[in-house]
Amino acid sequence: MIKTEICKYCGDDYVPKRRGAQKFCSNSCRSLNWKNKQLIKGLKVPALNSIDEKPVLAENPSLQEKMSLAGIGNAAAGAAIAEIAKNIITPNANKPATKKDIDDLKAFFKARYYIVKNMNRDIHGRSAYYDILSGNIIYK
Ligand SMILES: [Zn+2]
Repeated sequence: MIKTEICKYCGDDYVPKRRGAQKFCSNSCRSLNWKNKQLIKGLKVPALNSIDEKPVLAENPSLQEKMSLAGIGNAAAGAAIAEIAKNIITPNANKPATKKDIDDLKAFFKARYYIVKNMNRDIHGRSAYYDILSGNIIYK
């Protein structure tokens, strides 16, 4: 039975040429691992293939403050956008009538006829009205 080891970089099984001394499956993994370590040391960024390392977050209170303020703004904007989207998506016919809608409707029917000021009275002396329901000019 051939003893295999697990590459410390890529995690693949490999058959070591010299057991104990070899930690990586290949020269490229050894070299990539070394480069990764330098990157972590130098830039304090997590390596792409690193499993153990957690991302190092920048400790910058002012930045975090800005981010949370932006978050509140974004949340408010998000709610407004959601409301607008709902209004766009919901067809008018499916929206519930509000008290205002009913009042508007009452006012609308009260003012069905609008006097037309640039038309003369008819031979009976009646004024011209525009009927907003039928779209006709009528005299009354
Ligand atoms: Zn490897």
